[in-house]
Amino acid sequence: MTESASCDVCVVGAGPAGLSAACTLADKGLSVVVVGKGRGGSRPAVCGETLSPSVSDVLVDLGLDRTFANLQLRAVSGFRSTWGSSHATWRPVSMMSRGGGWHLDRQAFERVLTDHATNKGIRHFDGAVEQIVRAGNRWRITGRAFVRPIVAHVVVNAAGRQGATPAARTRRVAIDKLISCMATIPNRDGDRDDTVMIDAVEAGWLYSARISDRWRVLMFFTDGDLLTARTEMQLVRHLQAVLQNAPCVSHTVSAQELGEAHGIKVVPCATLFGIDAQEDSWISCGDAAQTFDPLSSMGIAEAMGDAVDAAKSLASCLGGDGAALARHEIRRRRRFLEYLRRRLAYYAAESRWPNASFWSRRRNPMDIERFVSKFQGDARSVTGRPEESNLRRVDSPT
Ligand SMILES: Cc1cc2nc3c(=O)[nH]c(=O)nc-3n(C[C@H](O)[C@H](O)[C@H](O)COP(=O)(O)OP(=O)(O)OC[C@H]3O[C@@H](n4cnc5c(N)ncnc54)[C@H](O)[C@@H]3O)c2cc1C
Repeated sequence: MTESASCDVCVVGAGPAGLSAACTLADKGLSVVVVGKGRGGSRPAVCGETLSPSVSDVLVDLGLDRTFANLQLRAVSGFRSTWGSSHATWRPVSMMSRGGGWHLDRQAFERVLTDHATNKGIRHFDGAVEQIVRAGNRWRITGRAFVRPIVAHVVVNAAGRQGATPAARTRRVAIDKLISCMATIPNRDGDRDDTVMIDAVEAGWLYSARISDRWRVLMFFTDGDLLTARTEMQLVRHLQAVLQNAPCVSHTVSAQELGEAHGIKVVPCATLFGIDAQEDSWISCGDAAQTFDPLSSMGIAEAMGDAVDAAKSLASCLGGDGAALARHEIRRRRRFLEYLRRRLAYYAAESRWPNASFWSRRRNPMDIERFVSKFQGDARSVTGRPEESNLRRVDSPT
């Protein structure tokens, strides 16, 4: 792609958040360019994600509910877990008002979002953004995939947990050090079980789900500083040892099957909260703004909901409502605080290992108090950006 582009908004990152933001901005009449460097981001291409039923609200907002239904994703049939007791419990989805969500085919899902953006006439460059610099009252966005720079009035950073560029303008506060050690294992013949399996163990928790007719994923979540295994062989042995104390997950994967696992890897999953520099023409959304513990299955739905809210607020601001972005920021902080409270309650329900670092760290209400004192304090720090923005739409140069 050698074309260059000038636009109102350049969205960096073509994941669920970036594409949701781009579609919303285009619906508001803004000219939008999306730059994305391929699928996946910091997340592995296949990681057995579960899509929360709460995504339905944002899909309706985007006008994608019917297209999504046509994807016919496999519904989660229930949750079997040991959490707070060694006794396995079964939660059928019939007990849940909105069901249990879906086992996500991430590629198919992102294709739906990409097609939706293309149908709205949104320009999409496939490639990595390498530099974003301020030039006068605009941003200059460069990368090898586009020979001439993109010139934009506003940048929406939707580049996932890694951020848009190394010199990103979004500062992150880490709430924990969660990582996932994940393995993909060939399915047993005839395995059609769509139950999500979860076991709490002394150093974290294990998750197993069927991701296709051929594969099942197993993930061990722990803190990065608690995992000493490094090589693939050490990681397999470590997972095999953890599996011995995981009655639900070991029902679906044996130690021997784990020995046949493909591509064992360790990926970052920490809960992060991002603060944009006080520049109202730079707005982060989705994982670039905040991340959630995969235990919650909230990541994708929250990323899309946050992106739509950020995009609507940005459009209002450009249209003359100077306080719209500050209100968005207050909503974002409230939602994150609610998440921290739920996270605390969920981890506190497991008390079998009172001295284990993984669990005692998560049962600490100080996380919440620190967050409240840092971000809910005086009026200026509540928003992190000017309460009354002067950002207004200007004609894009052609
Ligand atoms: C192990 C693991 C398990 C998870 N399980 C679940 C789950 O079960 N349910 C759930 O809802 N969520 C889960 N999540 C979280 C979920 O994956 C994220 O919340 C979601 O992908 C966030 O979407 P996003 O669009 O904000 O970011 P991403 O999906 O990370 O998308 C960002 C995009 O930006 C691109 N990009 C990055 N840098 C640049 C650049 N410089 N230039 C151009 N493009 C760039 C990336 O390539 C990527 O395509 C899990 C995450 C992990 C790590």
